[in-house]
Amino acid sequence: MKAVVLKFGGSTLKDRTDLENIKRIIETQQPFVLVVSAVNGVTDMLSSALNDIGNTDVDAFLSNLDSVYQHFLDKFSSSLHERVYAIENFLRGAKLIGEVPPFVYDYVISQGERCSSLLLTMYLNQEGIPCEEMLPETFGLVTDGTFGNATVNLKLTQTNVKKYFRENQNYVVPGFYGVHEGKVNVLGRGGSDYTATSLAYCLDAKSIKLYKDVPGFMSSDPKTVSTAKVIKQLSYAEAAELSYFGAKILHHASMEPAMKKNIPVYIYDVHTLMETKEANTVICANSCISDNVVKSISSTEDIAVIQFNGDNVGRVPGILGTIASAFAKENVNIKSVVTSQTSINVLVSKHDVPLCMHIIENMEIPQVQNIVYKTDISLIAAVGDGLLQHHSIAARIFSAVSKQKVNVEMISAGASDVTMYFIVRATDREKALKAIHEAFFGGE
Ligand code: ASP
Ligand code: MG
Repeated sequence: MKAVVLKFGGSTLKDRTDLENIKRIIETQQPFVLVVSAVNGVTDMLSSALNDIGNTDVDAFLSNLDSVYQHFLDKFSSSLHERVYAIENFLRGAKLIGEVPPFVYDYVISQGERCSSLLLTMYLNQEGIPCEEMLPETFGLVTDGTFGNATVNLKLTQTNVKKYFRENQNYVVPGFYGVHEGKVNVLGRGGSDYTATSLAYCLDAKSIKLYKDVPGFMSSDPKTVSTAKVIKQLSYAEAAELSYFGAKILHHASMEPAMKKNIPVYIYDVHTLMETKEANTVICANSCISDNVVKSISSTEDIAVIQFNGDNVGRVPGILGTIASAFAKENVNIKSVVTSQTSINVLVSKHDVPLCMHIIENMEIPQVQNIVYKTDISLIAAVGDGLLQHHSIAARIFSAVSKQKVNVEMISAGASDVTMYFIVRATDREKALKAIHEAFFGGE
């Protein structure tokens, strides 16, 4: 029987009643593979301790962390206590040397997930639901070795999964990390979604169910656009583009494994699960063009433009190649490129700008006369199947924006079939989002 892969995010794991909720949801869905993230707030706790290791009081920190878990249980659990303290030597060692090497960082920050998987395995077994904890280091969830933001090697992982996972057996797996040559690599924040879809790929699962504490994918960020609506159905490509361009609900790489094996992804809101069994958003291969064509408008502030200016930069071959390979060597991801005759604009994450400027200092490109960067910008993306095949969509977007006197600094369309994006000043982000949303979905 094909398994179902279920994943519970950290914000659905706050206290004891959440354990009961999870049990209620999964007991009727056996055999399951349950992927769990760290208990709400734990990953942030671990990252703050690591980022300020010099000032971290290791004893106080571990005792705080331990109490997070003991609070879920009726009586003290020595195995959970041991799991918490398994990071003790790493923390003490890092404190001693005054820095946290990447392999230590990734191992320690992923401990929140290992604590959750042990907690859930113990709890479910005690409640009469047989299940086994299965750690990524045990069966071999193999990554490409990049610390902090690894990619899963689906081929190797699938071979390992086939050896370790038995049919008709329930498993609990910690999300967020994998291993490469004996070292732990995390998959980036929110990476448990990606663990879930990767395991589903390896197991040829029937479906993937992601339980979150938000109402599903929405037509825009409800924190900015109060009239944002839930989107019932999305294609893999639409969901992937939305997560790439700022929708925080899904990890940006999580659609790829599901899409490759055509496994449907259901997103549930744990808060409304009592009233309805229906998924809030379903993501599958079927593309459907809605009346509006545009399904959602997302935005991200984590974007910067580095501009390489020079009279001929657009015409001379190889300049972009030189820039891209220098950036790639240092693991800088280029999010997009827009060029003209006199300017090459490279879009990167804001966090990467200092590193990029450092790389550029050591580069010799005679045609480039000056290099400037902008960080006070936001990227707005409109996503929807059919967006490029329909006339007047761009006109509607830009006239909505221009009515608000928002200046559009750069535009890109055609990079994918379903997305059009543009750059505005950071201070105009809200205005632009609201205006476009109103143009396509109506106002208050
Ligand atoms: N616990 C990790 C995070 O907070 C991974 C996850 O939640 O999926 O980013
Ligand atoms: Mg989380």
